Amino acid sequence: MESSILKFGHIPEVLSDKERGLVSYLMQAVEATDDLYQRQKNSALPGANFYPPDASKKEIEQAAKKNPAILDPYTFVERAANGKLIATPYVKKFEKELTRISNLLKEAAEYADDLTFRAYIRARAEDLLRETYDESNLLWVKSGNAKVGFVLGAFDRYLDQLFFRKRAYMGWVGILDEPRTREMAEFTKAFLSGDRKHLPGAKNAQVPQARIRVEDTLVFAGLIGDFSFVGSSLPSFADAEFIKRYGTMFTMFKPSLANRFESIFEIFRTVFSQEVQNRYSKESLRHAFLYISVLHEASHNLMRYEDAVTRLQEFFPYFDEGYADILSIKGCGPLLLQGVFTEWQLEALLLMNICESIYFCKRYMDASQVGPYAIGSTMSLDFLLQGKALIHTKNGFEIDAYRAFVVFDQLSHIFEYYIAIGTYNEAKVFLRRAKTKKTFAHFAPYIEDKRQEEYALV
Ligand SMILES: [Zn+2]
Repeated sequence: MESSILKFGHIPEVLSDKERGLVSYLMQAVEATDDLYQRQKNSALPGANFYPPDASKKEIEQAAKKNPAILDPYTFVERAANGKLIATPYVKKFEKELTRISNLLKEAAEYADDLTFRAYIRARAEDLLRETYDESNLLWVKSGNAKVGFVLGAFDRYLDQLFFRKRAYMGWVGILDEPRTREMAEFTKAFLSGDRKHLPGAKNAQVPQARIRVEDTLVFAGLIGDFSFVGSSLPSFADAEFIKRYGTMFTMFKPSLANRFESIFEIFRTVFSQEVQNRYSKESLRHAFLYISVLHEASHNLMRYEDAVTRLQEFFPYFDEGYADILSIKGCGPLLLQGVFTEWQLEALLLMNICESIYFCKRYMDASQVGPYAIGSTMSLDFLLQGKALIHTKNGFEIDAYRAFVVFDQLSHIFEYYIAIGTYNEAKVFLRRAKTKKTFAHFAPYIEDKRQEEYALV
């Protein structure tokens, strides 16, 4: 059977016996979420296993009008013997498994010396069986710079492509990298400071605080392992009320950043001309990739609109992820003026953003679940090509950074419209314009892949 568990290295020797006990129980609990995730996942169905395969979107919507539990984020929808749709809570379906995980967390808490962190693990053990995560989420964001990083629960909704409602199980354990966290916290603060204007009529929601952690991850399981995220912002924006009061915390995962960078560097090495390549060492690009990844997570906190999720429904994540990528470049403008970045560094960030967009288009060919990442990527690559910011030569691609920034500025206004005030139908029409396969065909011949012949350059 497939597994979503990703292990990165061993428990560090420098930890005390007690800390090792803590980490080992947490890891067991996280690994146990794989089973729950596998039962939610179903790549063949847009609604995964959350809805009966024979139920239409309309039927589900109708049923939800009478019974709101149908579209509750924490239920499975099933067809009863009499043909009616019924909602079964995760806590009921997974009672045995969740009780076991909850007990592992209670054991883990016995080893925690950090009192806030201990209270957090205990609260999470309770919340798992209730499926309201607010109490434990609050303790988690308060745990801030705890040495051990740990999250477990049903959070992100990317598996549910039908309604973007149902939350999938996931978990991770990591150890805080203190110096890197300090460095990135300062940088994030500079990036997020400053006034922002919003479109008239937009219901802007201010996020009071965005905390950051950079971790040496030990294990991923569930959705986060399956998607190999490089960073994660929690609580998710579906918890709008919570975020407005207490803010968020985002975690950057060093081992998956390192893995992703290798794939992206390979794309850089093959797609761009020798002349572009000669301008940057691998190390300088590695650093640029860390920055754009932090900028992406931080950007999620810049564009929160109270009604965006309900207005855009299942299209929300496409705009949320696409806009975060665009803002992460556009938002660098003020940092250039402040002298945080040089023009040379900014071009490196741009190159990494472009290579990551190509990377997501490529991944999208195999897994439609990465759609929210690939559609925004497709649009920015398209605009860059059309705007002659990315220029195809016989020696590979060249970049015109000046034109690229103009393109990102245009794109940011387009995406802002949809996320701030656009309607569901407008969003639907707009997203249809992205043709990932066609856009990827420009780059495919450079990328060593078995599909090479399949996508001839157009
Ligand atoms: Zn994101």
